[in-house]
Amino acid sequence: MPPASGPASSPVAGFSPSANIAQLRESATIAVSQRAKALRAAGRAILDLGAGEPDFDTPELIRASATAAMNAGATRYTPTEGTLALRAAVAKQATALRGRGETIGANEVVVSNGSKQSIFNACFALFGAGDEVLIPTPAWTSYYEIVALARATPVSVLGDEHRGFRVDPEMLAAHATSRTRGLLLNSPVNPTGTVYTQDELRAMLDLAERHGWWVISDEIYRRIAYEHPASSALEVAGSRARLIVADGVAKAYAMTGWRIGWTVAAPDVTRAMAALQSHTTFGASSVSQAAAVAALEKAAAVDPLVDAMVREFRVRRDAAVALFRSEPALQFVPAEGAFYVYFKAPGAGRIADAGTAFAATLLEQHDVAVVPGVAFNTSDWVRMSYATDLKTVETAVGRIVAAWRAEHSMAHANT
Ligand code: PMP
Repeated sequence: MPPASGPASSPVAGFSPSANIAQLRESATIAVSQRAKALRAAGRAILDLGAGEPDFDTPELIRASATAAMNAGATRYTPTEGTLALRAAVAKQATALRGRGETIGANEVVVSNGSKQSIFNACFALFGAGDEVLIPTPAWTSYYEIVALARATPVSVLGDEHRGFRVDPEMLAAHATSRTRGLLLNSPVNPTGTVYTQDELRAMLDLAERHGWWVISDEIYRRIAYEHPASSALEVAGSRARLIVADGVAKAYAMTGWRIGWTVAAPDVTRAMAALQSHTTFGASSVSQAAAVAALEKAAAVDPLVDAMVREFRVRRDAAVALFRSEPALQFVPAEGAFYVYFKAPGAGRIADAGTAFAATLLEQHDVAVVPGVAFNTSDWVRMSYATDLKTVETAVGRIVAAWRAEHSMAHANT
């Protein structure tokens, strides 16, 4: 008899995920983007307002630095925590933001494969079973999943939809329990574009400090703000002892594909995150780190390019907002930063998951791809991105507003 080779039943058909990922929800954005792709393949001209990344190319100067580094031998493993050159550049930037005569050292920085990994490392190192983590909501879909992967419990704190979904200390306190261990801040916010003021941030950081909560501040959109500069938690936090700031090059420098993010945190937390990373992904790409050094260190040449990209985003934002304003009944969040507009679906309050229904209508009937708000734990809403050319933004938002108006007036005619 031939030796038995594995289980009798098909291992694929019988697959059930381990407890590690059993609770993982597939990204709600995937269904839309797959359907959009299929429609495109069938010849439909889909206008894509789903993107979560700048449509600009990485500045030439940064690309040239990467090529030079590669040709000079930056082709090998780097230290787990990142090259000293990049950590020093990040520490210098953090020191400048912090002010008050405090020096932040390179030993307080870990470089990772994008700020997404930075946030994962922080949550995995800090939280565990039985811990609760407060998440101002709506929020980026991955926060909830990452906290759950760490076996902690994500606790949604729904903001006030009439104030850009802002969350304040009273709302946080109302959701706190003896098990609360952390707070995940994000400003400018994905998906709303809301930018917290220094006072608002300080009030939440003070509350966290009084309770001894860890704060992870995701500042990946900090450079993209229109009404007032977006502040870093580094500028306003009383103490940095329990603060982890996550940032990276993706959005500000149009470098999403380079996969470089980092954290700024106390040395012991930094060491723990580096130890975790040493057994998962190890040091980030050597070439990408050299590119990130150029982005930060050649500020005199690069910052004006960032400013130009932000100005272009602003033109598109203004165009989108003007179209949304043309329909007074259409509720949307005044987009102060990032590159999104968050608006309420016409079926909100009447049908379940109105955002998903309207996103499907927009895609199937109007060739416009957007992201349903269920991805951000607010299912009556829809996110559109203006990280695409002005003409596409104007045409697509024109269709959104017209479709919204048609559905809205139909519903009112029926009631
Ligand atoms: N935080 C937020 C709020 C984001 O929207 C994104 C990207 N969509 C990230 C973090 C991750 O960015 P990256 O990993 O590319 O640095």
